[in-house]
Amino acid sequence: MRPLLTLALLCALPSSSAAKSPLIVLDPGHGGTNRGAYGATIGQHEKALTLKLARRIAFFLRELKAPARVRLTRNRDRYLTLARRATLANSWSGTLFVSLHFNASQSRTQSGFETYVLNAKASDREASRLAQLENGTREQQPRGRDAVGAILADLEQRAMYARSRRLAKQVQGALRQARPKAADRGVREAPFDVLMGLKMPGVLVEAGFIDHPDESRELNQATTFDAIAQAIAKGITSYLRRPKKVARR
Ligand SMILES: [Zn+2]
Repeated sequence: MRPLLTLALLCALPSSSAAKSPLIVLDPGHGGTNRGAYGATIGQHEKALTLKLARRIAFFLRELKAPARVRLTRNRDRYLTLARRATLANSWSGTLFVSLHFNASQSRTQSGFETYVLNAKASDREASRLAQLENGTREQQPRGRDAVGAILADLEQRAMYARSRRLAKQVQGALRQARPKAADRGVREAPFDVLMGLKMPGVLVEAGFIDHPDESRELNQATTFDAIAQAIAKGITSYLRRPKKVARR
């Protein structure tokens, strides 16, 4: 009897959670042994900053009274594969997924913020390089363009793409308003593994360059950091409050 009871309880869980408000899944990039980029001025790795950013976004979502619950894929410094992040979000029946990152450039001359959606083909060479960097080499089996293309060919995924773009535009627009002097690098596309397999709209935010001498100093200031967190929270909230425009079937 016990296994049956357990099964019955498990089956009951999704329907009861589905009746709840929408769920925002925030994904602090990297973690554990995967430290991400390093910001010399800040003296911190990307993994610490993404977790801090996720927590501040959650705080501002509460302040903005976003019509949704919030969950983080990780709430401490732990290693998570990219696939696991999407699996977690799917198992929670997430409404939307936002992966958080900070950028770095080889020349240390680039700065600004950008928001990505999943596409088989990167929008430009820089986007392609970034996807390779964020995807890493040892986390997952490499997936060819064909695999991504097959996923996107699915009708549901195409609807998801449209919603993801809408979410990306809201987030990028809010960041632009919050940081008018910083470089707006736009909404871009690339084959990010962490966005693959999501059963909900998803974006990846590169909130700034932690290795740029000036921008890293700005990111190190609580006011700038909070302005970024608040902007991302605003973008998410705007997206959630305009479901009619977003939904496309
Ligand atoms: Zn990253």
